[in-house]
Order: sequence, then C-alpha cells, then structure tokens
Amino acid sequence: MADKNIVSLLAEQTPPPKRVYRRGRPACRYCGVELVAGARGRGACDAPDCRKKDRRLRGQIRREKDEIEVVAMRAAAARALERVPSGPALAVEEIAATCHFSAPLVALEREEVDAFRTSLEHAIRITFIRQDAARAQGVELAEEDDGSTPLQDGAVAAELVFKIFESRDVLEQPAHPAQSAACAACRGRCCERGTENLGYIRPADIARFRRRNPDATPASMVEAYLAQLPSRHVRNSCVFHGPVGCSLPRDMRSTFCNGFKCHWLHRIDDMIAAGAPPRLVAGFEAHRPRKAFLIEEDGSLVETPVDSSINSEDLLAEAAVVARGEPSCGEADQTSFPESSEAASLGGGTGS
Ligand code: SF4
Ligand code: SF4
Ligand SMILES: [Zn+2]
Repeated sequence: MADKNIVSLLAEQTPPPKRVYRRGRPACRYCGVELVAGARGRGACDAPDCRKKDRRLRGQIRREKDEIEVVAMRAAAARALERVPSGPALAVEEIAATCHFSAPLVALEREEVDAFRTSLEHAIRITFIRQDAARAQGVELAEEDDGSTPLQDGAVAAELVFKIFESRDVLEQPAHPAQSAACAACRGRCCERGTENLGYIRPADIARFRRRNPDATPASMVEAYLAQLPSRHVRNSCVFHGPVGCSLPRDMRSTFCNGFKCHWLHRIDDMIAAGAPPRLVAGFEAHRPRKAFLIEEDGSLVETPVDSSINSEDLLAEAAVVARGEPSCGEADQTSFPESSEAASLGGGTGS
C-alpha cells in the first residue's frame, strides 16, 4: 500500500499546463492569443504578463514534484529499514533523504596530484607575494584578498580581516550530525566538481592557513597539503575525496567547501530549524536507498543496512494509481477556446 502522504500530495498536485486551441490552432493558455511557431511548445505567448504566469505555474509544478519525490524517497527508506532484521522502525518524518554517489575508489594518478600541486603552488605564491608586499608597506590585507584589488587602507582592512576570520572560523566548526550523516550517506556527490576546481583552494584559504601557522613557508605548506592526500580516491572526483569523505581537516579545507550546502542539506536545515531533525539519513541512487546513517542521541553516526530492492519510483507509481486511478501518461489536456471566448477570463491555474 502506497504511503498515505504521497497519495494525498499526488491527489492535490497542480495539473500540468493545459494546451489550448483557438479555431483549431495553438493559443496562449493565459490570454488566448494565437501562438507563433516558437511559442507553441511552451503554450504561452511572449507577453510579459503571460510569461510571468507561466514561470510561476512551472515553478509551482517543479516544487510540488520535488516535494513528492522527496516524500517518496523517505517512505522508501522507512520501508527499506523495515525489511532489514536489525533495522530500526522509523516514521517517514524521522527520515531525511539525500543523493548517493557510488563511483569506485581508485589510486590517485600522478597527473591528478601534479595538477593539484601546480594550482596549490600558484595560490601560495600569490598569497605570499601579496601579504609580504603589503606588510612591507604597513598595510594589512583583507583575508579574502585574491590578488586582484589594490592594497587597502590598514584600519579598514584590519576590521574586515577580523570579521572575515570570524565567519570563516564558524564555517570550520563541525557540521550538525544530521548534515554529516547526509554527506556520509551521499559519499560526496558535490566533490566531483572538486576535480576541475582542484580542491577549491584559493589565496584566501592559504591566508587563513598562514594565520594559524605563521612560521609556515611556501614549501612546508605544499607538503602539509600533499600529506593529506588519500592513497585512493573516488574515481574522477577531487583529489581529497577519499574512502571516508574529504581527507582534508576542516581548517585546511577551502571556505567554499566548508560553507557549501546542496539542496538536500538545506532541507535538513529546515527540519533542524523546525525542531525535528532527522534520526536517519538515507542516500539514494537510481531511486533506491543505497546507504543510510542513524543519528544517535549523542550525535554519533551508525551505518544502518537498508534493503536496496525498495524503489521510490515504484512507490510513486503505486501511489499514483491510488490517487488518480490509472497513472496518466501525461497526455495534453486539450482545451479549445469557444470562438466568442474572452481571453481574459482564462485562469492560469496558479492563483496568480
Ligand atoms: S553537500 Fe550534498 S551533495 Fe555534497 S556530499 Fe553533502 S549531501 Fe552530498
Ligand atoms: S576539498 Fe574536500 S570537500 Fe572540497 S571538493 Fe575536495 S573532497 Fe570535497
Ligand atoms: Zn498570452
């Protein structure tokens, strides 16, 4: 039996945009004007008001679809736990979903390490040249200095430095256990982008490292970073993307990495803010739960087996049957304008 909540969400879902016709020809679903060739696929004319209504309608449909998919994933995770003898019984509301990245671990290649080293050395060189030149002039550089701005007035810069250090330090704090559980269940989908961005280490990150390690030299910094490389990393992902996530300690990671939150983490933030943090986070790939972490009272994470034969897509299809009878194949609902119809009487369906 499909989850009741998915059934009701599906039943209340905004219907897909209607196709409308005037004298048998495609017309704007909002104002009824006959559509030119380029606008027929969209079903709305180019008038700003109609475009606005259409964006709103499509945005609404996208958000609802996303919400339904997430509820289906959470329900699938609850069901997948039920099927595991040692699995805890949890309500859908106690579960959060995230994506899962199953690429295998492979040895780090020489070229990958060399590319990272070149990028790191460049960031270090820029930082040292700028900072040392600024010091010689008695000017304190803002930590966010990327080498492209003129040296700043000392007092202003010092204040800025303090504020930036403060916010960057906050980002270095350990994440909420539910967020750590999400990234562990996901295995670092977002770190794939770290490959082409070479760990996202920028001069501003080097400046932060240097503040903590004032005696560090360019060479010792390079060695410190290279020493954190895992021997095996996730194939085609960031050089630091190792078997248990990022191998860089948070205080060496870029501010970009420390601060990044995907939309799954934002959803978890919402649950935390609502006073109902998840007790389990499950990572999904191809609609199936692949990895899950239970969050204990003390914040520790325990990996929990899940039955990957459960498919959130099947659950959705099952719920669609209950909600609407046979699932619709998305056939356009054709509405014709009566010849005398006043276009303005047509609603866009968005409550606009
Ligand atoms: S931030 Fe999101 S995409 Fe990145 S590892 Fe965490 S859960 Fe995965
Ligand atoms: S440095 Fe760490 S957090 Fe940043 S992209 Fe690489 S593996 Fe991910
Ligand atoms: Zn129109």
